[in-house]
Amino acid sequence: VLLVVACGGSDRSAATASAPPLDSSPSRSAPEARPRLDLSTIDPSRRAVISDLQRYWADKVTEQTARSFRPLPDANLFPFDERTLPPTCEAAKRVTYEQLRGNAFFCPSNEYVAWDEGELFPRLDRQIGPAASKLVLAHEWGHAVQHQLAVAGAPIALELQADCFAGMWIGESAARAGLIPEDDWAQALAGLLQLSDQLDVPPNDPAAHGSPFDRTVAFRDGLENRTCFDYAEHPPVVAALDIVDDEPTPPLSYEDALADLVGALNAHHRADPSFEAVHDLRPFDRSQAPQAACGTETQVAQVVARFNFWLCPSQHFVLYDEQYLRRVFDGMGVGGLATALAVQWDGLAAGFEEHAPGFSNLAGIPFRECHAGAFLAQTAGAPTTRFHVSLAELNGAVGYVLLQPDRADPGTPTLLTAFFALRFLENGVRHGAGSCASGS
Ligand SMILES: [Zn+2]
Repeated sequence: VLLVVACGGSDRSAATASAPPLDSSPSRSAPEARPRLDLSTIDPSRRAVISDLQRYWADKVTEQTARSFRPLPDANLFPFDERTLPPTCEAAKRVTYEQLRGNAFFCPSNEYVAWDEGELFPRLDRQIGPAASKLVLAHEWGHAVQHQLAVAGAPIALELQADCFAGMWIGESAARAGLIPEDDWAQALAGLLQLSDQLDVPPNDPAAHGSPFDRTVAFRDGLENRTCFDYAEHPPVVAALDIVDDEPTPPLSYEDALADLVGALNAHHRADPSFEAVHDLRPFDRSQAPQAACGTETQVAQVVARFNFWLCPSQHFVLYDEQYLRRVFDGMGVGGLATALAVQWDGLAAGFEEHAPGFSNLAGIPFRECHAGAFLAQTAGAPTTRFHVSLAELNGAVGYVLLQPDRADPGTPTLLTAFFALRFLENGVRHGAGSCASGS
């Protein structure tokens, strides 16, 4: 804590020295006098979510416990950006924007909810979709409920309970109130998993929130069983994941990440008898006519119209949708990109054409997602690649699986398909390729 105070102090004087006039006001040191974002200026759909959460928990807590939930007054809601920081929380924690950037949190000592409206929520909206930030708010209200009910427990149990509460709300209220349609529930969960809101635990510490698999189980518990209030007496089972590195992947550009992962995947599949390493990757842009010569121009155009990724069988190069892969990388990071590519390399190793029936749909999941998980596990800590599998990469991998748009068979709810796929990803991560179904 002392270190945080010291850093905050020096950050602030450095900012004053380089002189935006805002920083010279003496009121900077009195948090209550800081400028704040007017709630009425934020997205109306977010305000509707907040009203619904307040009402839902007031009703639900009364109904399911002998206690009550007092909705948080507007004065205790702090959307912030770099000019409008929330008050300090428990003596000098998180006082600069650098420390708060990209986060949302509940402050128990002052009982307020704060979220980065300047960067985090616009980024979630852009990269994942509008449901993501709404479920982040639901998670924070879960902490507010916990606080008022004085729930005690290990940090991880409290985090999983907040995920469970978020699941309860989405299942019982969000769709009915027209706030998050059921088709967007997987998107909402993918966004929530990007968040690690605890102020005094490093975001990459598995003890902070649990693995994305544990978090998904807790969310699903709330959605389907609504047993979240029991978490204090019956804490959820948390399954250790020993493949998770302490160190995340160092910051890599999209190009470097792609090159690194292609190398790692070629090496990973070296022993598969039907696999021939792919070194030649050719991006295409959907908005333009494809350039690659493989078969007739019409054949290539048909493939490009339907698939993100395709191996030219006669010349052994891969055509891939550049914008699609970049979107995966921007939204889900290197872990998402690794999973997207691993799925494709599994197809190559099994001798599938990408458009083979059974590969791209539901029936291919037990093979495809499981092998992708096995790749992630085997690559964790390998000295030949810069790619590490820390909690951040695992969150990206799970986010990618949740956001796969074209996997579901018509009529299957997106989130149920995603839960099904995640079981196999987790199986591959935990037990390796030997535990996966065969591809043929
Ligand atoms: Zn939390």
